[in-house]
Amino acid sequence: MADIKLLPTSVSELIAAGEVIDRPASVIKELIENSVDSGATEITAEIQDGGISFLRVTDNGCGIVSEQARTAFLRHATSKVAAAEDLENIHTLGFRGEALASIAAVSKAELLTRRRDSDIGVKLTLHGGQVVSEEDYAGGAGTTVIIRELFYNVPARRKFLKTYGGESAAVGLVFDKQALIHPEVAFKFIRDGKVCRVTGGDGKFYSSVYSVLGREYAENMLPLRGGREGLSVTGFVSAPSFAGNTRRSQFFFVNKRPVKSASLLTALEEGYRHSIMVGKYPACVLAIDISPCDIDVNIHPTKAEVRFSEERTVFELIRGSVRAAISAADTSPTVENLILRDGVNAVNKAPAGGTASAAKSASAFPRPSSSFTAAAPPQFQQRHIFPAASAISAAVTSVTTTLPVAGNPRDDEPSDGALSKLSYVGELFNTFIICGDAETNKFYFIDKHAAHERMKFNLLKQQLKSHSQLLADMLCVTLPADLYVRLTENRA
Ligand code: ADP
Ligand code: MG
Repeated sequence: MADIKLLPTSVSELIAAGEVIDRPASVIKELIENSVDSGATEITAEIQDGGISFLRVTDNGCGIVSEQARTAFLRHATSKVAAAEDLENIHTLGFRGEALASIAAVSKAELLTRRRDSDIGVKLTLHGGQVVSEEDYAGGAGTTVIIRELFYNVPARRKFLKTYGGESAAVGLVFDKQALIHPEVAFKFIRDGKVCRVTGGDGKFYSSVYSVLGREYAENMLPLRGGREGLSVTGFVSAPSFAGNTRRSQFFFVNKRPVKSASLLTALEEGYRHSIMVGKYPACVLAIDISPCDIDVNIHPTKAEVRFSEERTVFELIRGSVRAAISAADTSPTVENLILRDGVNAVNKAPAGGTASAAKSASAFPRPSSSFTAAAPPQFQQRHIFPAASAISAAVTSVTTTLPVAGNPRDDEPSDGALSKLSYVGELFNTFIICGDAETNKFYFIDKHAAHERMKFNLLKQQLKSHSQLLADMLCVTLPADLYVRLTENRA
């Protein structure tokens, strides 16, 4: 082996930079965090070619004193931490003083900054971390950082980058998380010259959820709030009916940092236990606030993971708050929405000649208020709420497979009229609707998700029969950034 020697700074800088900066998305993350820390109320991020050839973040924050601009690019130079004790009590997103140094080491960087109280600011240009020019700057107050040719001097890393589309999706996701958790800031994201995300900066959490994740997402969310001294959670979780096939719509933040945490994820999903089907995932935007001394954010160079000193307490809080949010929203309107509204519509739309002809359907399924009253007669509840296990499964099977909305009745199915005679007893695990038929002394457990799907299925089947050809309906969908890119890339 060769002699042991201290690496030249130019090489050790590149190695250190690699820890923090591995793709354009990590540059955007650091620059936006700096802008947020600067107290900005407006932040604009712009990328070209996935951020590899060009990336710019502009803010209207406090700016940097001209004389300190060079210092900002030195490793471990920060205005946010001065002594070891400060590490126990961090209220800014940054504190390691490494981001600007790391970014500049692997790119051609420009810093344009002016403080509000001085007429002249500074424009600093660096190549591979070395200052190549310094000029006066008389632009707007605040800071702009421009990064060109990322990894121009680290070809190995460049090779590992994904396509422009892939990198741009990753940048979009980072941007979205920052925009979500900072509703007090008006964000704008421009990709290849096109404005693709704007938030209003009105300070309302719901507004940022609406602007970033779209109307459909926002409208299916239930508000959530919980906590105690030194620990709180606020945000939104999806109504159980709005579960997805992946976890991509779950966003967790701790002290305004986007985080990954297996424990938070499990707590969320535990909160939904019995409320959504197996294999479906709830959506959420949850902001956890915790005393900085109760977490360690310094276990990961990009602070993407956190460790809680009282893991169990946090877990219980999330699970409990999620349950409370679901049950607060879980009143009869949910049942009505899922079963009755669709049921009535399905029947009303069923073509004549079907089980439920259009003519008689309207009266065959009276609106919920008449027969499916939310308040069940107490004596009925007493008698029928604890049936034998075998009877339950029989009833579930019987009812979920035969709910006679628009399908063909079999002999053993209750007639249209029979269903309207059922009275609503209650709901179990936010999953089963319990109904009783006082005349026949039968009771029914209706799996509301399955029933709803069955209704839709029957309706589709009817429509297929009666129309020789269906034209595709226009359907507006809001896609997360990565799916959008995949769609556009594979449009053909
Ligand atoms: P850190 O954020 O961990 O302090 P950085 O390398 O990201 O380290 O930034 C170094 C310093 O440069 C910051 O502490 C801050 O004082 C200053 N700075 C960086 N970006 C901005 C900005 N957009 N506005 C004002 N000051 C900034
Ligand atoms: Mg920083």
